[in-house]
Amino acid sequence: MNPGAQRLSITLRGVLQAVGFRPFVYRLAAQMGLSGWVRNEADGVRLEVEGSAEPVRVFVDALRRRPPPGALIFALVSRPVAPRGETGFRILASHAADASGTGLPPDSAPCDDCVREIATPGERRHRYPFTHCTSCGPRWSVIEALPYDRARTTLRSFSLCSDCAREYEEPTDRRFHAQPIACPHCGPRLAALDATGSAVASGEDAIAAAVQVLREGRICALKGVGGYQLLVDATDPSAVARLRRRKRREEKPFAVMFPSLAALRRDCEVTDDEMRTLLSPAAPIVLVRRARLSSLAAEVAPNNPYVGAMLASSPLHRLLLSDVDRPMVCTSGNLSSEPICIDDAEALDRLGAVADLFLAHDRPIARPLDDSLTRMGPTGLEILRRARGFVPRSFPRAEDGPTVLCLGGHLKSTIALAVGREVVVSQHLGDLDCEPARALLGRTTRDLLRFLGARPEVIACDLHPDYASTRLAEALAAEHHVPLERVQHHHAHVAACAAEHGLAGPLLGLAWDGVGYGEDGDLWGGEALVCEGARALRFAHLRSFRLPGGEAAVREGCRAAAGALHAMDSAAFSAIAAAWFSPRELAVFGAMLRSGFNSPRTTSVGRLFDVVAALAGVRDHSSFEGQAAMELEYAAEGVEDAAPYPLSLRGDAPIVVDWEPLVLEVVADRRRGVPVAVVSARFHEALAWLAAELARLAAIPAVALAGGCFQNLRLATSARKRLEAAGFTVYSPALAPPNDGGLSLGQAWMVTRRWQERGACVSEYQGKS
Ligand code: ZN
Ligand code: ZN
Ligand code: FE
Repeated sequence: MNPGAQRLSITLRGVLQAVGFRPFVYRLAAQMGLSGWVRNEADGVRLEVEGSAEPVRVFVDALRRRPPPGALIFALVSRPVAPRGETGFRILASHAADASGTGLPPDSAPCDDCVREIATPGERRHRYPFTHCTSCGPRWSVIEALPYDRARTTLRSFSLCSDCAREYEEPTDRRFHAQPIACPHCGPRLAALDATGSAVASGEDAIAAAVQVLREGRICALKGVGGYQLLVDATDPSAVARLRRRKRREEKPFAVMFPSLAALRRDCEVTDDEMRTLLSPAAPIVLVRRARLSSLAAEVAPNNPYVGAMLASSPLHRLLLSDVDRPMVCTSGNLSSEPICIDDAEALDRLGAVADLFLAHDRPIARPLDDSLTRMGPTGLEILRRARGFVPRSFPRAEDGPTVLCLGGHLKSTIALAVGREVVVSQHLGDLDCEPARALLGRTTRDLLRFLGARPEVIACDLHPDYASTRLAEALAAEHHVPLERVQHHHAHVAACAAEHGLAGPLLGLAWDGVGYGEDGDLWGGEALVCEGARALRFAHLRSFRLPGGEAAVREGCRAAAGALHAMDSAAFSAIAAAWFSPRELAVFGAMLRSGFNSPRTTSVGRLFDVVAALAGVRDHSSFEGQAAMELEYAAEGVEDAAPYPLSLRGDAPIVVDWEPLVLEVVADRRRGVPVAVVSARFHEALAWLAAELARLAAIPAVALAGGCFQNLRLATSARKRLEAAGFTVYSPALAPPNDGGLSLGQAWMVTRRWQERGACVSEYQGKS
């Protein structure tokens, strides 16, 4: 034994599994002549390393400073242990026993080496669509259980051929211990199917068949990384219109996949930051500006200056797109708002009337993952829809707490599981309006619990009594005999921002969104909450107005406008609302507003956007949630400086923000023929002014901008500018969506705080259930 030998036992936590971390450790140790072993464990990676002091020091330094691409180290703890004098370094089999933990990485787009390999004639994997290695390829979309080994992925039925086995065993090979390894001899295969499910081609011919269909402007369903996608030529207006008709999606923007970065830059204006995001392993959709001379059909994203652009997320996409050599609409394979299809039979059944050809393969998908949606916000990258490429990366939990299962909200649903010091937030599951989405919510809940080997000690949900997620939470709490914690919607929005930025101190949270259930049963959504620890004080809110027809008004901004006008005075209501409604409707809505029948009160900023969009003549009916607000935002383009419309603040505890002076001026400006761009800019400035004014009155140095309204880039940017100019520190969500996709993370944070403060979970809202 080397007399000066030192042995360290090291545990690492972070994103370490399935990024080639163990092979990296092996090669590093071998290079330095060190002995020992490395093993995946449930909550990370454990290793022991032995040798002379200096090489051991250099080894630990390299672990910390130069981990392989895709790896993310949250914590490295090392302690000396007795040297053993063994020779050589080994990769030990995973400990299957303690199968809990969260250090799993997400799916990754092809790395440069794999891209080169599929493009090189004569290579074993030339043009093979399932070419992956230790640093790229499918992960969360194929993993069925932990620890991450091939036997627990959807590739387990493909036995490795001798060539692949050699690569898998060879420590110097870049496929050393790459679990999703495959080749044309032993791996998954492509097939082109017609709408009845009969195979019409396989392998290269299947790609050729898809290319032909796409070139002819027809629709191809493609089995992507996390589910079926629908592709159609994005430069062909009638092809895109046909997809809209068949998919029953009227105007909501479609994402576009480009064959190359060069092609993308011909159609879009891309900054360096946006380019880095497009080329990152997550390969998300990035909202970029459409170029003035873009080849994209207007139907891709009607009335929208942005394009949801992305590059290939797998070798299959890469091969197909470069052969078609045109930008392709690439949207989730589903009907309107149903979850994305992952099962082949289900895809044929549900998309048979939509797609003209199916490009499928025999590698099963473990769980549906939509494409993630991102954009560059005022301070950097922001994730608006978190799925493929980002999930299941966990968020750190600042404090210890019970295992909490959080069921989130209703729209853009996600769930979260807080275990130990981490919170795993599920992929975007969609709106829970339809039965398949509700079934997916239940499945994802079971999947995450089983996957992490966790038993919930507390269940959390929204305060809304009728959300499908609330009902599931109630059933699960009863089933597991654990307490149920209800977290008010807007408090959860602010908490999600606090969770992400680790904010424990007092915080003014501006939670502006569509609607969420308030503590008084009203539909809140224009809230200023003073938050500290687990408590929130309603510091200010918009003056409320009624929404005739309740949540039906979400797609009919004119109803919100009618409600606001009626709250002001009924003469204005009759005069202006007559433009939107038939005399009969006007009478009905008038009666509803007077009596309050089926007309809940709302304080929502999102609905105020609808009011202004309708009064400004931008839009009074929407075909998707948030459409009117988006168009109002874009209407302001070109107007840089605008004086804010007046808002009046009255009362205290809480302060009521009266929008009546604003609405009166909007109406007056329209009568005077002031351009819509100016009206919109003045409205946005009024809200930004309000943010700074509320912060000034609350006199709390830290301000959080949370809720779906802050997806509005103009609002987020001007509010931040005014707040920072006044000396406030502004926080906004970046890694978690600002919209309802972030609620589950906020619930996890809130329940942890309550637990910390009370030592037990007795929900303050329990009495209301
Ligand atoms: Zn690779
Ligand atoms: Zn093989
Ligand atoms: Fe919300």
